[in-house]
Amino acid sequence: MTQLSQRMVELGTAKSEIREAFAFAQARAAEIGPENVDDFSIGNPSVPAPDTVAQMVHQLVDTVDPIQLHGYTPAQGDGAVRQALADDLNRRYGTDYDPDCFYLTAGAAGALCCVLSALGCPGDVFLTFAPYFPEYKVFVESAGGTLTAVPANLEDFQIDFAALEAALSPKVKGVIINSPNNPTGVVYSEATIRKLAQMLTAKSQEYGHPIWLISDEPYREIVYQAEPLPWVPSYYTNTLVCYSYSKSLSLPGQRIGYVLVPRTAEDFDLVYAAVCGAGRALGYVCAPSLFQLVVANCTGQTADIAVYRKNRDLLLTALREMGYTCAQPEGAFYLFPRSLEPDAKAFCRRAQKYDLVLVPGDSFGCPGHVRISYCVPTEQIQRALPKFRKLAEEYRQG
Ligand code: PLP
Repeated sequence: MTQLSQRMVELGTAKSEIREAFAFAQARAAEIGPENVDDFSIGNPSVPAPDTVAQMVHQLVDTVDPIQLHGYTPAQGDGAVRQALADDLNRRYGTDYDPDCFYLTAGAAGALCCVLSALGCPGDVFLTFAPYFPEYKVFVESAGGTLTAVPANLEDFQIDFAALEAALSPKVKGVIINSPNNPTGVVYSEATIRKLAQMLTAKSQEYGHPIWLISDEPYREIVYQAEPLPWVPSYYTNTLVCYSYSKSLSLPGQRIGYVLVPRTAEDFDLVYAAVCGAGRALGYVCAPSLFQLVVANCTGQTADIAVYRKNRDLLLTALREMGYTCAQPEGAFYLFPRSLEPDAKAFCRRAQKYDLVLVPGDSFGCPGHVRISYCVPTEQIQRALPKFRKLAEEYRQG
């Protein structure tokens, strides 16, 4: 029998609760009709990309030499594209990034893998905050490190700084944050980012090496609060930004995003070189060339996120009225209410009796909660509300 990497076999066969919930919804839809199944399992944007994306694709296909359009670009991405991305951020955040701070990738997943592989040395620990995107564990371990989740602050899902301080040690190479957050929808306040920056600065000095802050930002533009989102590198110099157009422009299948290494980061030249080297070692070659050009021409635009706000308001207000407890989500397109019994998996099984498909928080390192992805048509939310109500009544009746 062929000898295979045991780790890869395990990764390829391991069950994902999100995928299982989605598969259940698909199977039920085939049996009883999609109009009878309310699937809130998956984070696939439900609003189309803005029209300018299709217009730009047509224009590029009609006007650019196909050899160039579909050819390889430099590994870090087309120079003019990187200039456009730098101009966009500089305009929005008053920064002075240049094209050579950017490395274009296949989405945020590609960006995270490059950053973690660039930083990761044997024995390194990376911290993140529960609840967290489950793929972080896969990416960190593939880069040779180990992931430790700092327990959640269940009240508001801001950072529990006492818990963070307890988790920090000289082995910590980096801390991964994700705001707006999947799965809570919570946005870190400026006070949280400021305090985090202070603590990491002090600990970096104490340990004699930088603790890198990896800011995973695929939901950066999907924000409902009035205050602007803090631009993390302005608070902490050793920040590496992982960005994606999957959610902001509704382009998850086109696999386009970037790593930003600010020039002020410690050992900039080496860190940027290591990110490029990681991309090479991972076989990425270059990010999809057509969509490099598309996103460079769509800076400052988003899909119609007003639909997500409407969905959030409708669902959050109704669930709270029904007695569900849920932290205030100010971004992304997820709610993370407390499950009505301690075992969230049992709660999700009960919900499935109504063909209401949710994901247990256990998948995100935070039991006792469920994730509801509300990137769905608003009519689906309206249709599902009586099901959420019946479920709550079931628990009230004991
Ligand atoms: N990070 C978080 C928090 C996500 O929710 C996702 C996707 O859902 C990703 C990263 C990966 O995004 P991409 O499609 O850009 O690879």
